[in-house]
Amino acid sequence: MQDDLLRWIRPAIRSLSAYHVADAEGLIKLDAMENPYRLPHDLRQALARELAGVALNRYPDPAASALCAKLKSVMQVPDEAAILPGNGSDELIQLLAMAVAGEGRCLMAFEPGFVMYEMIARFVGIDYVGVPLDDRFQIDLDATLAAIETHRPALIFIAYPNNPTANLFGRDAIEAIIDKAPGLVVLDEAYHPFAQQTFMPRLQAHANLLVMRTVSKLGLAGLRLGYLCGARAIIDELNKLRLPYNINALSQCAARFMLAHSEVLEEQAAEIRAQRGVVLAALQALDGVEAWPSDANFILFRLLQGEADAVFEAIRAEGVLIKNMKAKDGPLANCLRVTIGAPEENRAFLQALEKALNRMDKKG
Ligand code: PMP
Repeated sequence: MQDDLLRWIRPAIRSLSAYHVADAEGLIKLDAMENPYRLPHDLRQALARELAGVALNRYPDPAASALCAKLKSVMQVPDEAAILPGNGSDELIQLLAMAVAGEGRCLMAFEPGFVMYEMIARFVGIDYVGVPLDDRFQIDLDATLAAIETHRPALIFIAYPNNPTANLFGRDAIEAIIDKAPGLVVLDEAYHPFAQQTFMPRLQAHANLLVMRTVSKLGLAGLRLGYLCGARAIIDELNKLRLPYNINALSQCAARFMLAHSEVLEEQAAEIRAQRGVVLAALQALDGVEAWPSDANFILFRLLQGEADAVFEAIRAEGVLIKNMKAKDGPLANCLRVTIGAPEENRAFLQALEKALNRMDKKG
């Protein structure tokens, strides 16, 4: 392609690398925080009947009103709060960033943290300020309050629990940040089904607080549905940026159906939480591995001999795909991240890891 055409693409876009999704063909997929379980057969049949009734010749309900009402009741969103549906919470992050972007504005998040906050900031053209977590992956409150004072962020994202570190930050530190922030603070509760801790009831106490969730980790990643809850005046402004029909008719129908059967997803989440304990204990028992406790459906661990790339490849060669954090130094140096799967998937992962470590030991 001639450079004279590509020069029309903004430099901020050309300097980005696309979000990489690894090819998982034929592999046990423990890289993307998905729920490993499909729906029970009867429920799938009933869902198919519901979907067959959707009028695909018509545009969907533009506001997804029935779905939002169902989300509000099932997910215990306070009555006074308004709700905005997104095509995944990724879309809501983009919408929030677009709404506040402008000269002299910045978006703040913690590091290590969810990479999309920074990536979206860059492509919507708002400055990004990353605030380092401390060596226990907790918020350094003094440093954070000082950064807020200096940068006056328009928007702060706090993932609760955090990705990729899997921990919950202290509630008092978060409350202090919300109090101090001049702009909006989004509590990103993507992993809520596994942490069972929430700031949802705090919406009444803080006018600048928004709580964002997704159904992705709960077992419905294929639907692409996130939702943002907060003061009506703020949600109404954000809603102006939402493209009409951002939640397609099949997703609206399937999500409503599944919310009416949410106990099935809750049971799966409980099973995943139990498996998380099994995987963590096994990782912590291994020599040469440091594994951090998790409030999410994944575990971050470090290879203490510095062989993360080789171990990642060896595990993939055994048929299991996890996530390589690809850091040579810094807080994620030699870290890998594994999503909790079904028991047999977790066993396959642990066996592959042990085999890789034994092989390294022999070599060493
Ligand atoms: N927030 C966090 C903290 C995440 O880890 C993810 C997914 N990796 C998302 C948001 C995006 O989720 P989705 O777009 O599937 O709703």
